[in-house]
Formats: sequence, structure tokens, C-alpha cells
Amino acid sequence: MVAGIVAGRLAVVTGAGSGIGRATCQVLSREGATVIAADKNYEAALETIKTHTVLSSQSNGLAGHSAVELDVSDSKSVQKLLEKVRKQYKAPATIVVNSAGITRDNWLTKMSEEDYDAVLNVNLKGSFLVMQAFARAMVIASLPGSIINISSIIGKHGNKGQTNYSASKAGVIAMTRSAAIELGKMNIRVNAILPGYFKTPMVDTVPEKVIQGVLKMVPLARMGDPLEVAEVITFLASDKSSFITGAAIDVNGGL
Ligand code: NAP
Repeated sequence: MVAGIVAGRLAVVTGAGSGIGRATCQVLSREGATVIAADKNYEAALETIKTHTVLSSQSNGLAGHSAVELDVSDSKSVQKLLEKVRKQYKAPATIVVNSAGITRDNWLTKMSEEDYDAVLNVNLKGSFLVMQAFARAMVIASLPGSIINISSIIGKHGNKGQTNYSASKAGVIAMTRSAAIELGKMNIRVNAILPGYFKTPMVDTVPEKVIQGVLKMVPLARMGDPLEVAEVITFLASDKSSFITGAAIDVNGGL
């Protein structure tokens, strides 16, 4: 078995085919977890498992890492994933990382209802559906666990062109706090991470001029590497953070 701070645990990571989700699979597996990489893009999730994870520990009784196609905004797709985990692993996941997310930026006065709904459906409702499904399984099995929801600094401060995105990410923080209060007695911890700017495909779409403007406000004067937030996520997943719940943790270079 791979030794590490989450050794022998089963983890589900959404948005695992790219950026922060992929880096999270990498660090969780390095720290001994068996990882289920779930993404809308199955090929990308499979690539994460093949090229970014440390070989899983089959000696703890769990099957190895796996990749799964998942649309977090679709409750049927989430239930299918839950069923697959039940059949394949015969144990509930006790680490859940909600990293799937999208942007559909536009000025408030120009934003379509469709773009508003799309962002809320993936970022907020998607995190809700996944959190609800896997928390239920933990409660039924009477197992402690850790759920980490990826919000954003934008959920706290807002941003031009991101009324839909900021609303979704503020919702994630509030939902995290409510879930932490409900699930605390079962020793299921729920925390939110508020990343600043990280080098991922999502941020590749932001114009260079905007990035340079943001970097002037970052005391550490650079963008983050996805592995730097993945380390914090893995700490929250582990028992090293056993007295932290309901928190909204900034990981942003001081922005
Ligand atoms: P990313 O590189 O774009 O990765 C997001 C992943 O989620 C992609 O693989 C995407 O698949 C997948 N996805 C999209 N819709 C989905 C759905 N309905 N069901 C399942 N998977 C879906 O983005 P990232 O930068 O890693 O962001 C990860 C999380 O961190 C997001 O929640 C984001 O809002 C948050 N965040 C990121 C930053 C940053 O600087 N990067 C800052 C603050 C917060 P497709 O590529 O096929 O769409």
C-alpha cells in the first residue's frame, strides 16, 4: 500500500480531466488514496489516471484507480456514478472533491439567461448533487469523511463580467457552511477552497492584459500552479485537518 496522509481512502474527484481536478488526483494518489477521476470528458479523465496518478494500492482491498464519465449537473449521471462506486469498490468514497466548473463570462447587461443557467447548473447545482449523493452514502455506512468544494476568490469579491460565476461560487461557500453544520455530528467535514488565479485551461481564456493587471495585486507576484492548491485539498481530505470544517480557505498568493 502506498503510504501517505490519505492512505487506504477512496476519493471521488469531479472535473478530474483538467487543471485543479487533475492535480488533485495526482496528489491524492501520491498520498495513498485510490482515486475515481470523474469528468464530462471521459478521455481526459482516463488520461489523468494513466499519466498523473501514482499506482494505486490494491492491497487495501479496493480496486485500482478508475475514470468515469460524469455530468455533475445531471442527477441521473451522479446516481450512476454512485452505483458504479458501490459495485466496483464495495465501499463508499470518504473523500469527495467538487472541482468541475465552467465560466460563461459576459457583461451583466448582455448576459443570456442560458449562460446564467449553465454556470449555476454546473458550479452550484452540480456541487450540491455530488455532495448530497456521496454524503448520503457516508451517513448510511456510518463513515467519517471529508468533502472539499472548489469555490473561487470571485465568490467573495465579485468580478467584471462574472455575475453568473460569482453567484455560483458564493453559493458554494454558503452551501458548504450549511452542509458542515448538518454533517458535523457524523464527523463528515465539509470545506470550501477559494483559489485565486491558477495556470489551468480555464484561466487560459482570460486575456493576457487582464492577467497582468491581476498579477500586480498578487503579493507573491505570480499565478499558482494547480499542484499548490491540490496540496491544500489533500490536507483537508486527510485527518491532518481533523478539526477544520465549514471553512472557506483562500489559496491565492495573497491577492
Ligand atoms: P478546467 O481546467 O477548465 O477544469 C474543469 C474540468 O471540469 C474540465 O475537465 C471540464 O470538462 C470539467 N467539467 C465541466 N463541466 C462539467 C460537468 N458538467 N460535469 C463534469 N465535469 C465538468 O478548470 P480549473 O481551472 O481546473 O477549475 C477547477 C475548479 O476550480 C472550477 O470549479 C473553477 O471554477 C475553480 N477555480 C479555478 C481557478 C483557476 O484559476 N483556475 C480559480 C478559482 C476557482 P470540459 O473541459 O470538457 O468542459
